[in-house]
Amino acid sequence: MTTGGKTLTTLLDAGSAGPAARLFGLSNEELSDRLRGFGLLRYRIRQLETALYRQKVAEIQEVTTWPKELRDQVAAAGFRVGLPQIVETFRSVDGTERYLIAGNDRQTVETVWMPEGDGGEEGDSAPANEGDSKKERAGKEWSRATICVSSQIGCAVNCQFCLTARLGMIRNLTAGEIAGQVAAVLKRHEAESGRDRINLVFMGMGEPFLNYDAFMAAVRLLAGPMEIAESRMTVSTSGIVPGILRFAQEKVRPKLAISLNAPNDKIREGIMPVTRKWSIGEVVEAVRQVPLRPRERVTFEYVLLGGVNDGPQHADEVVKLVRRAQFPAKVNLIAWNPGPDVPFTTPQAEDVARFQTRLREQGVPAFVRRPRGRDIYAACGQLKKTGSQDREQGAGCRE
Ligand code: SAH
Ligand code: SF4
Repeated sequence: MTTGGKTLTTLLDAGSAGPAARLFGLSNEELSDRLRGFGLLRYRIRQLETALYRQKVAEIQEVTTWPKELRDQVAAAGFRVGLPQIVETFRSVDGTERYLIAGNDRQTVETVWMPEGDGGEEGDSAPANEGDSKKERAGKEWSRATICVSSQIGCAVNCQFCLTARLGMIRNLTAGEIAGQVAAVLKRHEAESGRDRINLVFMGMGEPFLNYDAFMAAVRLLAGPMEIAESRMTVSTSGIVPGILRFAQEKVRPKLAISLNAPNDKIREGIMPVTRKWSIGEVVEAVRQVPLRPRERVTFEYVLLGGVNDGPQHADEVVKLVRRAQFPAKVNLIAWNPGPDVPFTTPQAEDVARFQTRLREQGVPAFVRRPRGRDIYAACGQLKKTGSQDREQGAGCRE
């Protein structure tokens, strides 16, 4: 297949050159360190940062704030930008796009673009000070958008309802591969984080808190030179307690979402084996250590599985659990998105609405996340590296 005139193989090869020479993904200190031999003053490093992370240049020659001679020297020494490239795009009837992005090796990384978000951000208090006007770019109209970012290829956590779990754990992504997903997608849509309302959710493939250092290094790039407000980022974890405790110490951090998915440990153990390691009580206790910002709430993600966790008695248990937690919280309900050979059923829309009402009537803020891009396997829990190689699942409209 071809993408913009280049073959898929060429793009994957371009992404596979040695990580030592790649500049994208490095922090200010790492850039200074890596380019030490050139005797650059600090402002030259800052210019490079702006070019890499704001302008998202593809080649060193595009760093036009640098003299030509310097660009030539750095390029001749074998350095290159290494901005991650989108190698395949699937477009849903609802405007959602799913991308396969070249990783540092021949693996691809999955990322999703959801124009207008999926309702999961409702009830959040992120400032709406950026441009609200609709943008007509890349053939799409949008006034805000959410990018769903992956942190690993595959996942080791093995939640029974999740398609990513079927891959097992393949590998961690680097900080550059995590932040690079955002850069590649923003570039495609000519979006600018300072001007457009861009939200990030670390809810793609993988468990961010099992790749903690790279994930947080990516957050620092995104919140620093890429200028995405931390209040616009949300990380979701299946409840990795040591990760939550480290997260509690961070000065710059996204908002926190916990994939609760069950009203009690018994049901949760059946669908999320990680519960045997850390019970709901232990997770809640760890979350209590996170100092929340003014008006910040913790999100409990709750995937509704027909006949498993979607009854009125389950809603009542969730109410008790949220009350006992004693921190400001909201519940985001997600009707289960089906996947091949995953033995669950999707509840009816009325059942989802009933569950939501039962929570709300008892004072628990609850929102329903709209499934986005189900037809292209872009919805929550459907990411499973479906590309042209795995055509049986790669439905939808492919570029
Ligand atoms: N690993 C992290 C983040 C990625 S999963 C975590 O589990 O929190 C993002 C969200 O998708 C989680 O809340 C998860 O419970 C949910 N999810 C997984 N599979 C799903 C499916 N098939 N349908 C709907 N939501 C799903
Ligand atoms: Fe991993 Fe999250 Fe899927 Fe569980 S729901 S298997 S933690 S990606």
